[in-house]
Amino acid sequence: MKLLYLGTAAAEGIPALFCQCECCKRARAMGPSAYRTRAGALLDGVIKLDFGPTPTSRSWTGA
Ligand SMILES: [Zn+2]
Repeated sequence: MKLLYLGTAAAEGIPALFCQCECCKRARAMGPSAYRTRAGALLDGVIKLDFGPTPTSRSWTGA
């Protein structure tokens, strides 16, 4: 069994709430395609494990 972790670079997601760094500013300017949410995992290259949205990521989309 092989487990590959995905999207582990920023624990709080991008753009981070109230963050004014260049990365978060750029992500806000680019829109949802540049947003990064919680990490996920890929099991044996076949099964994708995703975790639900956070309150922060919900605030990006208004969902
Ligand atoms: Zn930031």
